[in-house]
Amino acid sequence: MTDAQSAVVPPPRKVRPPPRPVIVEAVERVTPGVVRVTFTGDNLASFAQSKPGAHMKLFFAPEDATWPPARDAPRPPSRTYTPRRFDAARSQLEVEFVLHGDGLASRWSERARVGDRMLLNGPGGGYQIPGEARRLVIVADETSMPAAGMVVEALPQACRVEIFCEIDNKAEERTLSPLVASAPTWLHRAPDRAKPGSLLETALEGLTDLTPDTYFWIACEAGAMRRIRDFLTVRRGIDRARLHSRGYWKFGEFNYPDHDYGND
Ligand SMILES: Cc1cc2nc3c(=O)[nH]c(=O)nc-3n(C[C@H](O)[C@H](O)[C@H](O)COP(=O)(O)OP(=O)(O)OC[C@H]3O[C@@H](n4cnc5c(N)ncnc54)[C@H](O)[C@@H]3O)c2cc1C
Repeated sequence: MTDAQSAVVPPPRKVRPPPRPVIVEAVERVTPGVVRVTFTGDNLASFAQSKPGAHMKLFFAPEDATWPPARDAPRPPSRTYTPRRFDAARSQLEVEFVLHGDGLASRWSERARVGDRMLLNGPGGGYQIPGEARRLVIVADETSMPAAGMVVEALPQACRVEIFCEIDNKAEERTLSPLVASAPTWLHRAPDRAKPGSLLETALEGLTDLTPDTYFWIACEAGAMRRIRDFLTVRRGIDRARLHSRGYWKFGEFNYPDHDYGND
């Protein structure tokens, strides 16, 4: 093959399996601002392989929608969520939705009822806890607490954990994991109307003893995530390889990209 021929060969297309239909089996208000929805359906077995902090896509399609969408129909909007817990025996998948107000997914979850339909795919991604980590600092807000709970459950014994969770107020404190004891430092925005992520930034500035075996798992508002990452790498000189950082949502942007690792 000549250079000219090889230049026009397109890369193989990644074929994504179609979203799977599921049904809402249970809805539970965990805190005033968080709803846990349990989905059930066939074909959920792959969620048994979810890595800690894995993600999935939920597709908000009309009740009578079919997949794939009809030729001229737009692809239904989707949002990224965490497959918090999967019970293989019952084929139940739990997702915890933050009720933040004006958002497609937030509004859907506020109104979710048993029997409602949803389309989803996944799981994908997730965090591989580095074998040499002896201390993991978890930096989370209410949207990443489900993922943080999965990370805590996967921690090896040799690794101690320190958790910072920023939430609106005391009523939003919730158990990170029913399986593993954890004692997060709760940071409440409400008293000072703090900007999302700002209390996490301040908390991280106070951290000491950042030995080379200290690693960081950071997931929160995208702007705050970048400032925290820059503080740790630029001001504290921490190798980026010790950080797993991710923007879970961004001020003023809907359907914020789910692949924001803060690399720019
Ligand atoms: C890998 C990954 C896993 C995630 N897992 C979860 C999860 O398990 N549970 C969960 O609740 N969220 C999770 N999120 C975050 C969720 O995808 C976003 O919050 C998403 O924007 C919600 O969609 P929406 O339709 O409600 O709002 P959108 O339509 O996307 O946004 C509408 C408006 O609301 C604002 N907004 C979005 N989220 C918030 C928020 N939390 N607080 C305040 N304002 C907000 C936006 O800036 C925008 O102005 C995850 C994100 C990622 C990338």
